[in-house]
Amino acid sequence: MLSKGHDNIGHNIGSVPSGRWHFEEININLVQAERYSEILWESTTKYQEAKIIQGKCFGRSLILDGKTQSTESDEFIYHESLIHPAFIHHKDPKNVFIAGGGEGATAREVLRYRSVQNVTMVDIDEEVVSACRKFLVNHHQGAFDDPRLELIFGDAKHYLETTDEKYDVVVIDVPDPLEAGPAYKLFTAEFYRLVQSKLNKSGILITQAGPTDPTSSDQCFTKVFNTIKSEFRRSYPYHSHIPAFGTTWGFVIGSDTQIIDEAGNIDAKLEEREIDNLSMYDGVAHRGLFNLPRYLRQSISSEKHIIRNNNPLFVK
Ligand code: SAM
Repeated sequence: MLSKGHDNIGHNIGSVPSGRWHFEEININLVQAERYSEILWESTTKYQEAKIIQGKCFGRSLILDGKTQSTESDEFIYHESLIHPAFIHHKDPKNVFIAGGGEGATAREVLRYRSVQNVTMVDIDEEVVSACRKFLVNHHQGAFDDPRLELIFGDAKHYLETTDEKYDVVVIDVPDPLEAGPAYKLFTAEFYRLVQSKLNKSGILITQAGPTDPTSSDQCFTKVFNTIKSEFRRSYPYHSHIPAFGTTWGFVIGSDTQIIDEAGNIDAKLEEREIDNLSMYDGVAHRGLFNLPRYLRQSISSEKHIIRNNNPLFVK
């Protein structure tokens, strides 16, 4: 049965089957809709519009300011892509910083490494993290209870500005740089320089960096890559297909010393570190992540923009 559908802001979007639908703007000209059975939690927090839904396609999803952050059925693609390419190349990651990461799944992947002794996770939104802890158990799988994890509520940039700690890996897992959102200051050259100053000699920065499909790659991804490239001696762009995001999603690694072997012998390294039971990442997948299609390589090489505090990047 078909009925008229309307998106979150009331525009008529044509006919959709009856039921409850979560409509999400993939970009300003494209909407994705998922049928859901229940809104498990919803709040206008001090920082963002937040909800967790029980989707009929992707399972439980965290949605912040209208954007899906991760879903039960495919979060493993996002979180394994975010964490393992960098961690497997760092010989001995011990002290780790996570900016954001509210669902706890980023911490879950980091904590797989036995060498990791301390993870400081700084998320700005206590309300969101508490809801994730309660409703997204399949995401965090108990990571919040690991004694190596220290959870702090606050702005990650402010925390890094004031700490004397140095880290082996800094992971930036915050939402896209929305103008009204809490994360856009974590996508600038000045911020990446701050991270660099908090890294140990062989340290690595990783960040999520937005969509990489041909219609949107130059809105965030290529700019973030170019900005990280301007601050670090080595920088590596890569991407993965995340079905719930309606697109392929980019990540960027920056380091002054670490060389990421884009065709590397990953399986032996995973075995050596006793990292098993991954669902997405291995040697074959690693090569896939870094073998970017031609349009994207061209888009990266023609990018000139460097994101700065006095001219921040905002995405829609
Ligand atoms: N996977 C995600 C994506 O697609 O962008 C990011 C996931 S995670 C839920 C994002 C977290 O970053 C949220 O819990 C949010 O509260 C937190 N956050 C946003 N801005 C922040 C800031 N300035 N400092 C620390 N945490 C921040």
